[in-house]
Amino acid sequence: MAHSHNDCTPHSHTHVMYLASYNCASFRVLSSASATSDEEAAAKAAAVNADTGAPTIFDKIISKEIPANIVYEDEAVLAFRDISPKAPVHVLVIPKSRDGLTELGKAEKRHEEILGRLLYAANIVAEKEGITEGFRVVINSGPSACQSVYHLHLHVLGGRQMKWPPG
Ligand code: 5GP
Repeated sequence: MAHSHNDCTPHSHTHVMYLASYNCASFRVLSSASATSDEEAAAKAAAVNADTGAPTIFDKIISKEIPANIVYEDEAVLAFRDISPKAPVHVLVIPKSRDGLTELGKAEKRHEEILGRLLYAANIVAEKEGITEGFRVVINSGPSACQSVYHLHLHVLGGRQMKWPPG
């Protein structure tokens, strides 16, 4: 069964804001044990370089080396449409300087300001996109949450009815 990195079953809610993996439920019902372990392996593989400081695809988006559909930008934050949207509105909000924030789980006291700016930027994005009647902000942190790009990012999702509990 073909599946993307977001199709894994989360094993921990540690550091996951609001919703770890928004398309897991149907997959969980259908998947075999081996497919699940494949996904766990894929998530672990993505984490291998997490602490090496290796650049990610988001560095190339920040430097405009590769194109992205930018929704909002200021001196600290960049927001652009996800290449594989999971909702009519699916925007990623990232710090322009990663500064050790490969994932939310690496946050330190010194990151408080940028973390606040990212969340505030998520609301600016929601206003610009016309989804203030309801939107969801997701941060996947670490392999158990299916994080695939090790440069902190907020997913801003909206434009459809979200389900709760997440699945
Ligand atoms: P994560 O799985 O780490 O929480 O989220 C990473 C997100 O980055 C995914 O939703 C994926 O679709 C998105 N993504 C990966 N590569 C690119 C890219 O080159 N351009 C854009 N716009 N999004 C990307």
